[in-house]
Amino acid sequence: IDDADLDTLVTGITAAATASVAAAAVVAGRRRAGAGVMSAPWLADVAERTLEAGLHREPVVRRAGAAEINLASNDYLGLSSHPAVIAGAHAALDEWGAGSTASRLVAGTTAAHIDFENDIADFLGFEAALTFSSGYLANIGAITALVGRGDLIVSDTGAHASLIDGCRLSRARVEVVPRGDTEAVRRALARRTEDRALVVTDSIYSIDGMIAPLRDYYDAAAEHGAIMLADEAHALGVRGPGGRGVAAEQGLSGAPGLVITTVASKSLGAQGGIVLGTGLLRDHLIDHARTFIFDTGLNPAAVGAAHAALRVLRGDPQMPDRLRAGVRRLASACGGDVPDAAVVSLIVGDPVAAVRAAAICREGGVFVGCFRPPSVPEGTSRLRLTVRADLDDDTLDTVAAVVTAALREVGAA
Ligand code: PMP
Repeated sequence: IDDADLDTLVTGITAAATASVAAAAVVAGRRRAGAGVMSAPWLADVAERTLEAGLHREPVVRRAGAAEINLASNDYLGLSSHPAVIAGAHAALDEWGAGSTASRLVAGTTAAHIDFENDIADFLGFEAALTFSSGYLANIGAITALVGRGDLIVSDTGAHASLIDGCRLSRARVEVVPRGDTEAVRRALARRTEDRALVVTDSIYSIDGMIAPLRDYYDAAAEHGAIMLADEAHALGVRGPGGRGVAAEQGLSGAPGLVITTVASKSLGAQGGIVLGTGLLRDHLIDHARTFIFDTGLNPAAVGAAHAALRVLRGDPQMPDRLRAGVRRLASACGGDVPDAAVVSLIVGDPVAAVRAAAICREGGVFVGCFRPPSVPEGTSRLRLTVRADLDDDTLDTVAAVVTAALREVGAA
């Protein structure tokens, strides 16, 4: 055993010991805190079983200024720390204050919201846009405003949780088809008894960064008189001309019957959800989307940051190409498939091993995502690395070395 092996061993043991001591301390602490107040024994049982199995998911605490390479975020273009974006947030904060203070229908809307909506609609080739305070709420609001009881939704197995929750809340009948199976979408639409139908899909699946057959889905929806809603959360700034997304790449910008949802919380480095479509759709959402009507408007600082980020992206249309070059480099070095977008997914399988691999990466100065059930199906727990356009080749090579060693350590490479 040479020194490098010993170092790897020590890192692994330390990570495992730290994790189990931390879990035990959490269990003990929770028991103490819960004694006397926890009146629901079933809740204590479930919570403790999760903790004891090492499956509790406490968010990792990040320290300001820590020298860590962060590949756990969705900050694909590195814009969350871009000086112009931070300045955009500051300017909006100074001009409009720290909060939107109420629903936009109640307290009025800022000119900053309207300017951003007009600009992003123009960028993506749609007539109009409406912001929500998150992408999650945008999806729920849009779906529940478009369909309801007595209607049909066709969704695929890759749909993000926010689309799934929107489908459930709508009370429409939901038919789930295998991911990417256009014929199944077509069949479900053709045999329906409902008049109104909506097809919902991610344009880039969030877990593994693979691309959906958006054009084929759209054609199937159009043939059968259905609306299509595509979630471009992972595509904005990543795919398509100048980062305009998969719809633009597949010639669907502004297509009739197409609704796009996207977010300011990923490649734009800010926060917020956006729905794009016709002006009439925007009017309809204002009147019917409960997550617009009853939710406080998107924070002005987030609007300012998102708008500044959009300007940076418009001024540097090569940014997505730089990102994709980094993705190819990292995915190849880690032995993973090269995905369509910025997410490099490395399957570990066992959830405890995946958590341990992520902890080992962190010890090595690399912060990666760790996805396990219920975020992914049983047996497919994984490390999820999101590349950023602002990482240079040397940094990506360091990441690859640390991640590969961690996977080897847990027997997954
Ligand atoms: N859609 C997809 C595909 C996502 O991955 C996410 C974020 N995880 C959302 C919607 C929700 O966006 P937000 O984080 O802005 O609520």
